[in-house]
Amino acid sequence: LHSINSLAQIGQLPQGGVRRLAFSAEDVAARLQVTEWMQQAGLAVRIDAAGNLIGRYGGQDPQAAALATGSHLDTVPTGGCYDGSYGVLAGLEVVRVLQEKQMRLRHPLEVIVFSDEEGTMIGSKAMSGQLSRDPSTYSVADGTSIQACLQQIGGDWEGIAQVQRSRDQIAAFVELHVEQGPVLQHSGCQIGVVTGIVGQQRQIITVTGLANHAGTTPMSMRQDALVAAAQLILFVHQLACNTPGDHVATVGSLQVFPNAANVVPGKVEMSLDMRDLCSDHLASLIRQVQQEMDRIASQTQTQFQWQPRLQVDPAPASPTLQTTITQVCRDLGYSHHLLPSRASHDAQDMARITDMGMIFVPSQGGISHNESEFTPSEDCVRGANVLLHTLLRLDQLYP
Ligand SMILES: [Zn+2]
Repeated sequence: LHSINSLAQIGQLPQGGVRRLAFSAEDVAARLQVTEWMQQAGLAVRIDAAGNLIGRYGGQDPQAAALATGSHLDTVPTGGCYDGSYGVLAGLEVVRVLQEKQMRLRHPLEVIVFSDEEGTMIGSKAMSGQLSRDPSTYSVADGTSIQACLQQIGGDWEGIAQVQRSRDQIAAFVELHVEQGPVLQHSGCQIGVVTGIVGQQRQIITVTGLANHAGTTPMSMRQDALVAAAQLILFVHQLACNTPGDHVATVGSLQVFPNAANVVPGKVEMSLDMRDLCSDHLASLIRQVQQEMDRIASQTQTQFQWQPRLQVDPAPASPTLQTTITQVCRDLGYSHHLLPSRASHDAQDMARITDMGMIFVPSQGGISHNESEFTPSEDCVRGANVLLHTLLRLDQLYP
């Protein structure tokens, strides 16, 4: 807790939040601070070519693959003190406890600070081998090249292919994080056992009608793109509300052309974002939206075009880790709740190469990516305790 508050001073904002954009001077300063703490806790620290900061606490068995935990230190422009930092510092706390008790696990234990989680996610992408070879894929907000960004934090684009790791090196990865949503607080449960990180499908839908005079075009002769778009938005909302499941669907962006009070709208561009833990379920929802689009198009004399913008496969948490975390909660007497994560995390990339699990603690009011993000200290302590005991148990479980 002391570390959370102390780290939050790097990039502190007047309302109590944090601005620590990836690759900025604040990010570099926070990484230096954590490096120092890692070294004090007896970790051997290195930075890989993707800028991931990796602290390693040696195990009893030099042949064993590592158990790993960690998260990120970068924040959104007006972020809170807990998102990311909490997981890194709790990992560090676990090592401090082991060091105090002069204990070594059988497996080496790694605490990883992934680079640029809030932007390109280049750290976890490189580690899981999901990286594009084209550096221009990784655009950074102010236009600096990814090569220059990586240099700021001790990385090196040229060597980035070597960052990839495998199950032989990391037997399991556990990320502890604040929920960033209201589910735990609502359920009154102390710990969230994450079932997986949802897949995401984002499309840009263009509706084309005919722009025409708002006064002289009779109602029966209109091809109003906004009326068609509005029907689709309502359909998406109702479909998501009335279909059983844990999915979410959002139309969050809408542009109307020519966007004038005296013109029948001729064109609308809108986004559609759908997320679920099951790819088949997501595909079925999308089919239903497409069928409805055809119906609306013929009814309103408009045309719909559909452009995929983003597709992220769901990343299920490993059943072994879900069971282990659940068991630990029972043993410690903490109430727990199984839930998917609907926000992205470095863990979703790590799930592509090894067994992944995530532990959530409640976010007060479900608020995150906001300066008022808050998790009470008792919850922070409980989460760190679950992380410690999960790692101890995994140490026994994995060969
Ligand atoms: Zn985060």
